[in-house]
Amino acid sequence: MELETSYTFDAAHRIRGHAGKCAGLHGHTYRLELTVSAERLDPLGMVMDFEDLRELVRKAVLDRWDHATLLAADDPLAEAIASVQHEAPDRVVRLDGHPTAERLTREAWSAIERALPAHVRIERVAIRETPTSGSALARLRP
Ligand SMILES: [Zn+2]
Repeated sequence: MELETSYTFDAAHRIRGHAGKCAGLHGHTYRLELTVSAERLDPLGMVMDFEDLRELVRKAVLDRWDHATLLAADDPLAEAIASVQHEAPDRVVRLDGHPTAERLTREAWSAIERALPAHVRIERVAIRETPTSGSALARLRP
């Protein structure tokens, strides 16, 4: 049985070296879609409690990325913003590569997978930058 949830967060990013408009700092209201599953339901008939899953996703992903600037670790803009944004030093997130939807999808997958209870499996994560564009990663079915 699968459980599907979605979340939104607001963040800025840029793709340094991009030939088009994504090279400039800009923001999205991102949408994170998550599907998890369990072989058997718990005594209440649930894969897991929606609120527990929300709390888990909030701690694993949203608390770090919401209202943050997501940049590649070697992007000089990261240091520049951090040096003047003293009120929120943790709101510049340095990623191990360009902050594309694809990378955010992988990062979200890893962070959520680590936090899930043992009986719950991650099945799919999608990160949408706009209603029509995004990235998804799904477990391969045998
Ligand atoms: Zn963008």
